[in-house]
Amino acid sequence: MDLWFTENHTKNVRFSIKVDKHLHSERSEFQRIDVFKSYEFGNFLTLDGLMMVTERDEFAYHEMIVHPAMAVNPEIKNILVIGAGDGGTVRELCHYTSIQKIDLVEIDKRVVEVCKMYLPQTACKLDDNRVEIFYEDGLKFVRKKQDFYDLIIVDSTDPFGPGEGLFTKEFYGNCYNALTQKGILINQHESPFYEPDKQSMILSHKRISSVFPVHEVYQFHMPTYPSGHWLFGFAGKYFHPIKNFNEEYWNSLNIKTRYYNTDIHKGAFALPTYVKDLLSTNQE
Ligand code: SAM
Repeated sequence: MDLWFTENHTKNVRFSIKVDKHLHSERSEFQRIDVFKSYEFGNFLTLDGLMMVTERDEFAYHEMIVHPAMAVNPEIKNILVIGAGDGGTVRELCHYTSIQKIDLVEIDKRVVEVCKMYLPQTACKLDDNRVEIFYEDGLKFVRKKQDFYDLIIVDSTDPFGPGEGLFTKEFYGNCYNALTQKGILINQHESPFYEPDKQSMILSHKRISSVFPVHEVYQFHMPTYPSGHWLFGFAGKYFHPIKNFNEEYWNSLNIKTRYYNTDIHKGAFALPTYVKDLLSTNQE
């Protein structure tokens, strides 16, 4: 008998992965957590039936959520990561010896525990001595901080369930206040292709643009996410991702990557016309 994981990308489109073993299943206080072993994508984590991380393509997501900001401001030392319980974002940050402190705020302790058990590829740096984990709601955590972080990375689930508050204008305003004078906010910015990801993308951009003077969006290819075309936001008080891009500095670090490089950095901010049009629509 064949076993398949299937996610509905729309009412009319499905994405399926053939599964070797269903390794783990539980309902935590916040969401349903599953881990599967697959032939094509290695082990993968789903939350409430939605794809989060696969061993095969996580490098694209985690390199692209971390390195563009780090290549713009070499002075980043103190970082807040919200969500990201799988650990992949923290793993990429740990390449930088210049970073002094990483606060990881994950609402669901069980995600971290399950990933440590089944996804060591991403969870491998969660015990780095610069990392402190807070099991709290990121929305509430960020309210308590003022002028504190050089970089905030929002590596969240989609805007429903526990992740809903992380897409609100109030949250982006609180991130602005929690950032230092030259602070940068990177956020999971959904996708331009299918509904409702498209509407979430438009709304996030509108809200971020009303808070941050610099508000750019960049793209990358993510085979297991709906449509494979995904976006991150780069918002800043001061730095612009292209005008302040420090290509020489980043190349001098010799960080080993598989997706990110300095050509990708420049290209990723060039968006297709239909995406630019969507981002310039005035909808709230
Ligand atoms: N790369 C993934 C994606 O975009 O689909 C996200 C990965 S990560 C596993 C997302 C994490 O955000 C989850 O572990 C979830 O528990 C956490 N999360 C959701 N809402 C949160 C909140 N309000 N505060 C902190 N963490 C939250």
